[in-house]
Amino acid sequence: MTFDYGVRLDRLRRLMDARSVDALLVSVGADLPYFTGYEAMPLERLTMLVVTAARPAVLVVPELEAPRVVTQAGVFEVRPWEETEDPVGIVTGLLDRVGSVAVGDQTWATFVLDLQRRLPGVRFDVASQVTGELRMRKETAELDALRRAARAADRVADRLRQLRFSGTSEAGLSRLVAGMTLEEGHQTAGFSIVASGPNGASPHHEATERVIEDGDAVVVDFGGKLDGYCSDTTRTFHVGKPTPEYRRIFAVLQEAQAAAVDAVRPGIVAQDVDRAARKIIERAGYGEFFIHRTGHGIGLEAHEHPYIVEGNHQELEPGMTFSIEPGVYLPGRFGMRIEDIVAVTDSGVERLNGSDRSLAVVA
Ligand code: ZN
Ligand code: ZN
Ligand code: ZN
Repeated sequence: MTFDYGVRLDRLRRLMDARSVDALLVSVGADLPYFTGYEAMPLERLTMLVVTAARPAVLVVPELEAPRVVTQAGVFEVRPWEETEDPVGIVTGLLDRVGSVAVGDQTWATFVLDLQRRLPGVRFDVASQVTGELRMRKETAELDALRRAARAADRVADRLRQLRFSGTSEAGLSRLVAGMTLEEGHQTAGFSIVASGPNGASPHHEATERVIEDGDAVVVDFGGKLDGYCSDTTRTFHVGKPTPEYRRIFAVLQEAQAAAVDAVRPGIVAQDVDRAARKIIERAGYGEFFIHRTGHGIGLEAHEHPYIVEGNHQELEPGMTFSIEPGVYLPGRFGMRIEDIVAVTDSGVERLNGSDRSLAVVA
């Protein structure tokens, strides 16, 4: 899939101008593929895109990686560096009279510290304060990719409802989920959280050898990348007949998740979407057990702007995509979470995930 990187760099330069950022230095992480289509391996050798107002963008890249770069004529130049060259010096050599620099959020400290030593008096900031603005407003082709990734995740979720859970270890089920994530069209399986019984009370539980048994609630949270874009879905399963208490709390969670999705429309601020879900869980008496934000933006990265959290006054706009994933976690007992990816449309909301999110009773 290709995008118009020239247009993206033009938008970037306008925003840099508005924010008084003289140079943007992007290394490993998702900003680089967003602006160039090239994803750097997280190596100790420096890869860095240098964007300034004065010159065409330059991708400084280790010579042995250069063959992987798909050049974009007229969009950016490639400056391969040889083993004995000084790549940080090449970068600073491309900067004349800069007063402020924004550096990619995931750039190795080694390079950032070196840049700071060589650019005394220059103000440093994180790149995401500029790039986040652009990346959170998805283009049509990006929305399409996210829809395809979500549908692939939906097929996995639907298959899970048919599966026998009891007798399988969390780790075994996690491997199975990762395999299905690939089978259903993702190029990579990013993560597959399987948290059973009391382990479900830990939202980011790492799958263990614990064998799933009758009476367990099982939280399965998984995703991968399809054409560079992420999926991220959570469904909660119950092995055998749930107790009335479990059913009651699950109904509250479903209501909270639906309320947050329904709250999404252009103009609403991110924290109000969080509040829409939280209010319902609090009213039912489980507020203290909903221990994380309601959601996170998603795109080239599984977690990006905008974050759906108290204190985020970002107004939502058409094209923004994020998760809605409230949960209830009772320590020592069980957990539950429902997660869907949604997109803000011109008039409201589109759910990208359409798989069954009702209480799944499995064997
Ligand atoms: Zn999470
Ligand atoms: Zn998730
Ligand atoms: Zn998520």
